Amino acid sequence: MTDTLHLDKRQRAMLAEMGVRVWSPMSEAAVMSAPAEEAHSFAAASELATQAIANAAGHDTAARQIPAPVPVAKVEPVPIIIQRPEGIDQMDWSALHSTVSGCQACTLCGTRKNTVFGVGAPAIEGQAPQVDWLIVGEAPGENEDLQGEPFVGQAGKLLDNMLGAMKLSRTGERTAEGGGVYIANVLKCRPPGNRNPKPEEVAQCLPYLERQVALLKPKMILAMGRFAVQALLRDSVPDVETTPLGKLRGRVHQYQNLPVVVTYHPAYVLRNLPEKAKVWADLCLAMAHLKGSE
Ligand code: URA
Repeated sequence: MTDTLHLDKRQRAMLAEMGVRVWSPMSEAAVMSAPAEEAHSFAAASELATQAIANAAGHDTAARQIPAPVPVAKVEPVPIIIQRPEGIDQMDWSALHSTVSGCQACTLCGTRKNTVFGVGAPAIEGQAPQVDWLIVGEAPGENEDLQGEPFVGQAGKLLDNMLGAMKLSRTGERTAEGGGVYIANVLKCRPPGNRNPKPEEVAQCLPYLERQVALLKPKMILAMGRFAVQALLRDSVPDVETTPLGKLRGRVHQYQNLPVVVTYHPAYVLRNLPEKAKVWADLCLAMAHLKGSE
């Protein structure tokens, strides 16, 4: 349909949308009386006009539609691995402790809740506690990760009972009669799901334990379980990785020129209660050696 201004329907619609009213004697009547099909095409033209105006004004109506959210696969945060600082072998106790707290040298830093440095007789003015005994376990479990303290779960209760049987405690200080205990692990962070430590995690973490031993200078080290044994005896026992732990019991080994006695891990003993007697025998060997060396 055209009118006296020779505007077609589309042009008229555009002008109408822009607020320009075009009058012609027949225009309104013509639109009102247009058949349904024509009225529909007018609406379509109007829509086109709306689109054209929006485009002209820089508003793309399609672009303004909010896209449906695209499901995103859950991606575990990748921890930033930062090399351990130099000079761990020169650090004092408090510097070592704070270095461990901030350690990001392996992926376990991305899943831990707390680092677990160790527990024992109190440190004196930032210096290592004075202890006769160093007990070395494997790695923090769930409870230890939550509390930042080693051996606080079921295995820890058994360890406390073992210490009690030796008239020792996890926080007891060294007295004139001896005593004083420190408890630490090979790994300072929990492996997720309590899986075994990986060799690269042990390699990254071991310098911390090495320095703890050097500063504590205990009179006896009790290595509990195969990860502690492998970590401490790898330079002195050939084939330690493949030697059954039972074959390393019953004698006194050396680490940093300090005596080491090998025993089963308390978690293993909890699953194999008859082995308790062997653990007691190992503790007796360690106590006898310590007494004999005084
Ligand atoms: N097992 C370990 O070896 N260490 C802990 O701290 C707890 C359980």
